[in-house]
This record gives sequence, C-alpha cells and structure tokens, in this order.
Amino acid sequence: MAVGNYPAAEFHKRVWQPQSLAEAWRLKQALKDQAVVVAGGTLLRTQWESGTAWMPPHLISLEQIPGLGEHSCTDGEIHIGAGVSLADCQYGTDTPQLLKEACRHIAAPSIRRIGTLGGNVLSQVGDSLPALLVSGAELVWYDGISSIVEPVEVWTIHRKDAGIVKEQRILTAIRWSRQAEDINKTSRFFYEKVGRREGFCPSIVTIAGGFQVDSAGRFHQVRLAAGSAAAVTARLKEAEEILEGALWSTRLAETVHQAVMKQFEGGSDSFASASYRKRTAANLIVALLWNRLTLN
Ligand SMILES: Cc1cc2nc3c(=O)[nH]c(=O)nc-3n(C[C@H](O)[C@H](O)[C@H](O)COP(=O)(O)OP(=O)(O)OC[C@H]3O[C@@H](n4cnc5c(N)ncnc54)[C@H](O)[C@@H]3O)c2cc1C
Repeated sequence: MAVGNYPAAEFHKRVWQPQSLAEAWRLKQALKDQAVVVAGGTLLRTQWESGTAWMPPHLISLEQIPGLGEHSCTDGEIHIGAGVSLADCQYGTDTPQLLKEACRHIAAPSIRRIGTLGGNVLSQVGDSLPALLVSGAELVWYDGISSIVEPVEVWTIHRKDAGIVKEQRILTAIRWSRQAEDINKTSRFFYEKVGRREGFCPSIVTIAGGFQVDSAGRFHQVRLAAGSAAAVTARLKEAEEILEGALWSTRLAETVHQAVMKQFEGGSDSFASASYRKRTAANLIVALLWNRLTLN
C-alpha cells in the first residue's frame, strides 16, 4: 500500500497499489515520468517487451481502487468502470450491444480476461473506440480534484491534436446517459474490423455505424466512425450529414463513399497504406449501411 511521503523515485522500484483515486493521483504527481498507470498491463507489457516504450521503475496499479471494476445500469444510465475487463464487457448484461460486438473483436479470450475497457480507450487506437463513439458514450475522468464527464467524441478530437503528449488524467468510467440509450434502443447498428487475418491481429480498419430509419425510409440520427491501429478513431461527419434525412439511392451511396474517402485519415504503417485504409473504410460503410437498411 502506498502511504505517507514518497521516496526519491530513483532509489525504490516498485508496484504501487493505491486504495483510492486521490492516492493514485498523489503518486502520479510525486513520481512524474518515473511511473506509469497500469490497468491489465496487456498493452504496456507488449510495448515494453518490443522496446516501443520505456518501462519506468514505478508502476501504479489501479486494481485496488474501489468502483473501477464495477458496472451498473440505473434509470436507463449505463456505467462501466474503467477497470472492467473486456471479457466482462463482452458478456455483461448491461453492456450496449455494439460494445459487446467490439469486445468480441479485440485480441483473444486470454487477453480479454485481463485487458480492461479503460486501457483499450487509453491506447488511443483501441477497437472499442468506434463503438463508443457511435453509441454516444462519455468518459469520466479524475483530475486530482473532481470528476469530469467528457463525450468520447470530444476526447478523440483532442487526442488527435495532442499527438504524442500523454493523457494525464485517470479514467474512472465509461458511461451512457439515458438520452443516448434511448436513441440507441431504436437504432440499427453495424461494426466491422478488418485485419490481416480473421482474428487476433491489429486493425487495418475498424468501422462502426448507427442510424434510425423513419416510415418513409429516410436516415436519421446517423453516426459513423472509423479508426485503425495507426490512427485515432474519428466520427465521419461529412458522410453523416449527407445521409441525414436522405433516401437510399445509388447516387447517395456514391456520395457517401466519396465523403468517407475524403475525410477518413486511417494512417499508414508497415501493414497498410493510408489510401488502402480509406478505400476499405468507404467500401465497408456503404455496404453495411445498405445491409442494415434492407435486412431489418
Ligand atoms: C496479443 C495482443 C493482442 C491485442 N489485440 C488487440 C486488438 O485486437 N484490439 C485492440 O484494440 N487492442 C488489442 N491489444 C491491446 C490491449 O490488449 C487492449 O488495448 C487492452 O484493452 C488494454 O487494456 P489494459 O488494461 O491491459 O491496458 P494497460 O496495458 O494496462 O494500459 C494501456 C494504456 O492505458 C493507460 N491506462 C490504463 N488504464 C488507465 C486508466 N484507468 N486511466 C488512465 N490511463 C490508463 C496505461 O497507462 C497505458 O498507457 C492486444 C494486446 C495484445 C498483447
């Protein structure tokens, strides 16, 4: 347990197990860049082992902090603690359907039992992010003073601008307001991840979408998002605006395809170019819009 004054960082290597958010925060402030916050450790361990990140002498585990591993649904509001495992999200009765689908596509069961939803969000390229964006999720942060609620969409925009500057706050939960859940209950959704093989691989492109259809067949409440292992997930606002209030047609499909190609910045790495990612995202979104429109 972490207590009292913290010793000079360079003399003691250890795993700290704070019992409260305030204590975790104090540790983080005292140890600065000599420490990192650890949830399941599945991503961090991979980064340390591959040499893509430095392993600091101090690890601040969030495991003992009350509430972080809990989920609940009260009066239509859903609350999932940042420390809830991906496996518990996948099978939890309160978890929004789209997030369950996303969790099913992340890593393998052994990793999902240890890796957390919070860690997946903080990875910035996690496959849960398109589902969280489209379902209107909000992030609950602790900044050493109070609890701050921020839409996932706002956070992803800031993270894109922040580049390599690390998030300093502690994520405590992911939540859906009753209003977001009311929209979700009457929406049609889709989620698809494309990798280099069927499963257990980084994302070339991960997309998600949600919309409602009125009695005349017009699209409403359209939400589209795309991301990849090489880019922070983003809402595809141009394509959403084109679809809002529109009826399906070949011309509409072409316009939406062009808008996704224009707006989506999927990034490039040794596995796929940015232009391949753009085209894959655009093809998938148009195909799945049509699929969910006609198969209900
Ligand atoms: C073999 C393998 C396959 C994988 N496949 C996938 C995949 O298909 N899709 C995918 O999205 N990911 C994948 N991952 C990455 C990883 O497992 C997941 O992103 C997982 O959800 C990370 O959660 P964690 O609890 O282990 O995070 P950790 O490794 O503990 O932390 C990840 C980052 O988040 C920060 N962090 C964690 N929790 C908090 C918090 N509450 N507040 C502030 N900062 C926090 C940490 O400081 C760190 O920077 C894979 C990993 C491995 C090893």
